[in-house]
Parts: sequence; structure tokens; C-alpha cells
Amino acid sequence: MAPVDTKTYDYIVIGGGSGGSGSARRAAGWYGAKTLIVESGRSGGTCVNVGCVPKKMTWNFASINENIHAGRHYGYDIPENIGVDYGHFKRVRDATIKRLNGAYENNWAREGIDLVHGHARFVEPKVIEITAADGSGKTRYTAKHILLAVGGRPIVPQVKGAEHGITSDGFFEIEELPKKWAVVGAGYIAVELAGMLAAVGVETHMFIRGETFLRKFDPMIQETMTERYEAVGVKIHKLHKGFSEVQLLKDGKGSNKLLKLIGVDGEEHEVNELLWAVGRAPEVEDLDLNVPGIKQTHSGHVIVDQFQNTNVDGIYALGDVTGQAELTPVAIAAGRQLGSRLFGPPELKSSKLSYENIPTVVFSHPEVGTVGLTEPQARQQFGDDNIKVYKTRFTAMFYDVFPAEEKKQNPTQMKIICAGPEEKVVGLHILGLGVGEMLQGFGVAIKMGATKQDFDSCVAIHPTSAEELVCLGSV
Ligand SMILES: Cc1cc2nc3c(=O)[nH]c(=O)nc-3n(C[C@H](O)[C@H](O)[C@H](O)COP(=O)(O)OP(=O)(O)OC[C@H]3O[C@@H](n4cnc5c(N)ncnc54)[C@H](O)[C@@H]3O)c2cc1C
Repeated sequence: MAPVDTKTYDYIVIGGGSGGSGSARRAAGWYGAKTLIVESGRSGGTCVNVGCVPKKMTWNFASINENIHAGRHYGYDIPENIGVDYGHFKRVRDATIKRLNGAYENNWAREGIDLVHGHARFVEPKVIEITAADGSGKTRYTAKHILLAVGGRPIVPQVKGAEHGITSDGFFEIEELPKKWAVVGAGYIAVELAGMLAAVGVETHMFIRGETFLRKFDPMIQETMTERYEAVGVKIHKLHKGFSEVQLLKDGKGSNKLLKLIGVDGEEHEVNELLWAVGRAPEVEDLDLNVPGIKQTHSGHVIVDQFQNTNVDGIYALGDVTGQAELTPVAIAAGRQLGSRLFGPPELKSSKLSYENIPTVVFSHPEVGTVGLTEPQARQQFGDDNIKVYKTRFTAMFYDVFPAEEKKQNPTQMKIICAGPEEKVVGLHILGLGVGEMLQGFGVAIKMGATKQDFDSCVAIHPTSAEELVCLGSV
């Protein structure tokens, strides 16, 4: 039995990030559920504070440098060593994020959602205790329905001196750009952040375990993007065995910080900054999930069924803490579906998110877009004889005024993978200028079950890069 001073809600949402906010707003805003959000950090979670938003803003910042360079080829008289005030950019980026923190809280308040800033942990199977962030003490809360939307955090490897480096969280704290930096990791966060600083002239070294990065993506993406990064000067240390020690030679900001990285093989590198981008772990340590007895995978992710139910009745989980397609719109969509299922009308009692064909973009330089199966996955699922692959490689018209050598460094590449006699499109992979904005519409078509014939029957928009996707193999 909960103690008498335990406050009761219809719905408690632990974590005010993408998924928690999406679910709470659906439950309270649409269906009037008495809802509490508990947030231990800044409102909006990873995406707003240390993820999608500051990342995309930094990508824009870096793309401007690429366009300044392009401008010279177009005849603009732009001096070579133009300065850039990264500190200014960081301040305006921080101000945008602060505005978003406020927007999240205003939306919650408008929809009648209570917010407590503090850290939640289970003290009884359906009772949480919140330690208030302002030091005002501990309060207990209970609800029929409790959602775990606590997200994740970057992993720092067990390497001596690893704390002298930064993670993606620390990347957004940088006030002065380093002259030379090292990025350890081969996933999309490593590739994005490495690409951004390389694009603004920071000497960038990537350390990867394999021959290519973006290993979960289609081989075409892996190979071309790795080559492209090398072509524009990123030093990629392939088949790297890892580091045994990081020494802080000099503490400071930007190029005043100096680190020595000592490899397992004994090689040494001196850099001004080191980014660990080696994966993320679910933020579950201090939640005391053992109290309700919630089942987790060996990596700590909360196990859920297709309706986001955990093994404990009335406790749900979604977003990064479940390890399912760790993307903001996925967490939001799963949260909204859950809110509808728990508090909506009877016809929504089976609401759930379909995790199939989720489009995603990597904000690398250039961007990558992908939806559906990779070619190896499609071949394994349908068999070689039932797969037809269409692809093309060309240089976008934007680069026509560039010298030939530079043109070669900027490919656009597209691939669609079709299955069965009807040639249903089961995978689409694109890289090149502007593909980030290209993918969403194709995502709709593929979600609707489009075939190659449907693609071909759509009249091309000329002159664009996207038109190639509806002309593949048709000439
Ligand atoms: C560098 C980077 C770039 C990214 N870029 C993209 C992108 O371009 N596109 C995209 O779709 N996705 C991107 N993502 C992923 C995206 O940010 C996440 O998938 C998304 O934020 C997950 O939402 P969530 O609700 O599961 O968790 P979160 O947004 O992480 O929210 C969890 C919240 O729970 C709070 N919390 C944790 N424990 C407790 C507790 N015990 N008590 C109270 N509160 C607690 C945390 O403070 C946090 O605010 C990026 C991530 C990173 C790190």
C-alpha cells in the first residue's frame, strides 16, 4: 500500500523528452487524463538539448562554409581567410534551445500537464519517489499508468584517461573550435559530427574498427561516404584496435587543449579534442526497475511488446530506453499511439506504432537518406532471384562549375531495391546534395507499398536530382 501522502495521477510520464512529451500531450491534451511529467534535466530531452536540434543547427553552420567555397567557383569575390566566430554561433544556438525548453513547458502547462523537475525512482511497484531538483525534498506519486521515457546517454569507454575526451553532449559545450580533433566511432553520430568540423576546416581524424563507417547502412552508402570523407581530407584510421590511454597534456579551450592518445598498438596522436561516439546506453541505472521487476535486455534496454507494454501491468516504455529505432519521430509517434490507446475512445484501444519502413537521414556532408531494407537484407529476406536493384551515380548540376577534380569528390548516388514480380520497392538509399529534404515524400510512397511502376509513372521534376529516382533504368 502506498503511504497516505502519495499523490495520485491517471498517467505519470518519467522523462520529458520526445517520447514522454508526445505521449503526455496526447493523453492530457486530447483525452483529458490527469498527467504528470517528471524531468530530471532540461525539458525537451536529448533531441532539443544535445541531439537533433543543436546538431542540425551545427550542420547548417558548417554547410555555410561549403557554400562560401562554392560561391568562389560561381564567381563571387570572397576573400580566402574569412574569420568565423564559433562562440557567437554557440550563443545563438543556445538561445534557440532555451526558447524551445520554454515552448515545451508552455505547451505542457496549456494542456494541463503538471511538471516536476526532479529525478524519479521506483519505491514500490506502482509508486515513484521524486527527488526535487530545487532541493525541496522528496515526494511520492502513483498512477494507474506509468510510462518510462527516460531515453539514453552516450557511452564513455573503459580507457585510462577517457574522461579527458568528450561525448556528443560535450560537443555542444565547445566554445572554441579545436585545430585538430579525433573522433572514435563509426555510427551516424560520429560521421555527422566529424563531417561538420571537417567542413569548417578542423583537421579531423576518425578511428574506426572496420574498413568503412555507417556499417548498418547499405554497402553503397558505407563505401561511397567513406571514400567521400577521405577525398575531402578526413583522415580515416581503418581497422583501428582502439586506445589504451588518453593523457591530458594541456588543459584549455579550442587549440589550447592538448591530448595525447596512445593506441593499443602503441601508436601516438596529439590532438586538441577527442570525441567518443561509440554508442549509447539506456538511462536506467537510478530508476530501481528491480522494484516493480521490469525485464531488461543484457544491455539494459527495457523489453516491451508491440504495444509498448513492459512485463509489468500498467508500466510502459518507449523511445531510446527500449532501443527501438532510436529517433525522435519514432519516440513521439510511439508516445502518441500509447496515449490514444490508454486514454482514447474504444476504437483506438489497439493503437500501436508500425516500426516498418521508417525513413531516416544522416546529416553528414553530403547527407544520406535511407528507408527500408539494405540490399543484403533484401537478398536474405526474399532471395537473390526475387530482388531487382536499380541504381545511378552522377554529379548534381550544382557542381557543374567546379573544377573536374572537385566535381569527382561530390557524387550523388541512388539505389532502389525491388522485390517480387510486382517489383515492390522495399529499400531506397540516396546520398548527395539535398537528399535530406528529398526522402520524406518517397517515405510516404514506400509506406503505401509503391512499386517500381508507380515510381516510373510519376512525371519527373526537372532539373532536380530527385527526378533520377523516377527515371531509374527507364532509358
Ligand atoms: C547527437 C545526437 C543527434 C541526434 N540526431 C537525431 C536526428 O537528427 N534525428 C532524430 O530523429 N533523432 C536524432 N537523435 C536521437 C533522438 O535525440 C532520440 O532518439 C530521442 O531524443 C529519444 O527520445 P526519448 O523520449 O526516448 O528520450 P530523451 O529525448 O532522451 O528524453 C528522456 C528524458 O528523460 C529524462 N530522464 C532520464 N531519467 C530520468 C529520471 N529517472 N527521472 C526523471 N527524468 C529522467 C532525461 O533528462 C531526458 O530529458 C540524435 C541523438 C543524438 C545524441
